[in-house]
Amino acid sequence: MVAPDRQFDSLRRVAAGRFAYLSRSVVATWVTAMAFIAILFFGWMHGKATIEQQLREHVLAMAQLAADRTALSFDSVAKALQTIGDGLGTDDLEPAQQGAQERRLVLQTMLIRARGRNPSVVSLVITDAAGHTLAASPYHADGASSTIRPKDIPPLSQDDRDTPAISAPFRDPASGIWLVRMTHRISGSSGLTSGMLLANVAIDEALGRIFQQYPIAGGDMVSLHDPANRLLASFPPMVRPEAARTEDGPGIGNASAESLDESVRYVTAPAGDVVRLVATRKLSRYPFYVSYGQSVDAWLLKWRQEQFVLAIASLAALIVTAAITTGIQRRLALTGQLQKVRGDLEETNVALRATLAAAEMLAARDQLTGLCNRRNFDQRLEAAIARATRHGDVFSLLMLDIDHFKNVNDYYGHATGDDVLRRFGEVLSERLRPYDVAARWGGEEFVVLADGATLDNARMLAEQIRESVASTPFSPVPRVTVSIGIADYMQGESGDDLLRRADKALYGAKRNGRNRVIAAESGQTSPMLRRQSA
Ligand code: GH3
Ligand code: MG
Ligand code: MG
Repeated sequence: MVAPDRQFDSLRRVAAGRFAYLSRSVVATWVTAMAFIAILFFGWMHGKATIEQQLREHVLAMAQLAADRTALSFDSVAKALQTIGDGLGTDDLEPAQQGAQERRLVLQTMLIRARGRNPSVVSLVITDAAGHTLAASPYHADGASSTIRPKDIPPLSQDDRDTPAISAPFRDPASGIWLVRMTHRISGSSGLTSGMLLANVAIDEALGRIFQQYPIAGGDMVSLHDPANRLLASFPPMVRPEAARTEDGPGIGNASAESLDESVRYVTAPAGDVVRLVATRKLSRYPFYVSYGQSVDAWLLKWRQEQFVLAIASLAALIVTAAITTGIQRRLALTGQLQKVRGDLEETNVALRATLAAAEMLAARDQLTGLCNRRNFDQRLEAAIARATRHGDVFSLLMLDIDHFKNVNDYYGHATGDDVLRRFGEVLSERLRPYDVAARWGGEEFVVLADGATLDNARMLAEQIRESVASTPFSPVPRVTVSIGIADYMQGESGDDLLRRADKALYGAKRNGRNRVIAAESGQTSPMLRRQSA
């Protein structure tokens, strides 16, 4: 049989396919990974070229932000001065003998409250028209105002009322920090100056407040300069503020450049080899400049770290995808192979069923004559008896034995004997009706179940068979004859009884000279009759 081999083939293919798919997936994964790495590499090269442009935009935006925030800080001082000024009447500023002490206390409280709102205001002073201090916060600050005299301050136009005069930066000898003085003139009803409001503002505080909200990252720096490019404040604080000029530090540079890009430049820090990209913007409304610088290396490092994390994450995603794909592919391959095996097995089953059917047919047939065999005949006889019992059907049995067959074998050989048996089977079949059953009972004995045949019908059939056999040439055997015993089925009789009666009749035929038909005696052996008579 071919089928089992085919099954093993299928199983072998399954095993081989497993590894074939695995290796194919591995190759695919590697190819994809290579392509991915190539894309990353080109992305890196391209990114490096554009990263500098990003940095330029970044420092410009940050410089602008710092400038705007610092201007807002000065604005808030100006606003405070305006508010205080508006709240003061001319009477408050005139020297008066009576109530001077209480008035001074009211003014003092006013200043303390205003200064508390803006920490960059170091001191606030109110003077009368003559420049004498009326109130100050802190109290010792009144000395700071004593040098400023109303005549030193140019009269304000209507526009100037919104923007207080701002002095050139000066350094506080005590703390060393840079200050500017903002002055606000209070006009009386006559339009003459009736008093002055003075605010000393710490520049680094004004700048620093911004970066308390926006902490500067590593490598960043921000600084404030006056138009003479003096460094007024910086974050982080500079070691040598004096050195921070355009030539060797992040000073004003070309802040007045027409295009924004031109105001961005590379600067090497004086203390060390840090190269920064620096942008400078002028404050609106105030004569100061803000520079913002970012270390190029730090920026690149940050970008590279981001790229690295991105690459690792993408690679991990790729590997997971590849693993899942491999699993799916392998499962699909196995499923396909299993389906193939199942198909093969089904084919095999069909073949086996056909073989079985053929085998069953062979099992029911006598190999030499092709007639039914004894086993099959027994089944048919049982069925006939069942039919006869249930429906009262009649049938008869013919028992046939070739006469002197031993002689045929002896004279002509066993092979000729077989030929005679085969030919006899044919002659027998030719004489039968389709619903009769002929079987080889064994050796040279045969049996016929004549369906629906009474004993008389059976006798006629037997005679026909006998005559046919006797007149058929069985070359080289000159003449073959057959003896036949017949018996009709009697109700209640067993198959064995029926066969025995037919056999007995056959024996009678032999005894009476062979080549004849003898019928069994009917009726007397019927068990029913026997029971009735008992
Ligand atoms: P009788 O007329 O009394 O029946 O004489 P007979 O010789 O036919 O009877 P016997 O039972 O003595 O001999 C039957 C012979 O049939 C014996 C055996 O060698 C032969 N025989 C049985 N089966 C086969 C077979 O399959 N092929 C051949 N060639 N001979 C067989
Ligand atoms: Mg015999
Ligand atoms: Mg015989």
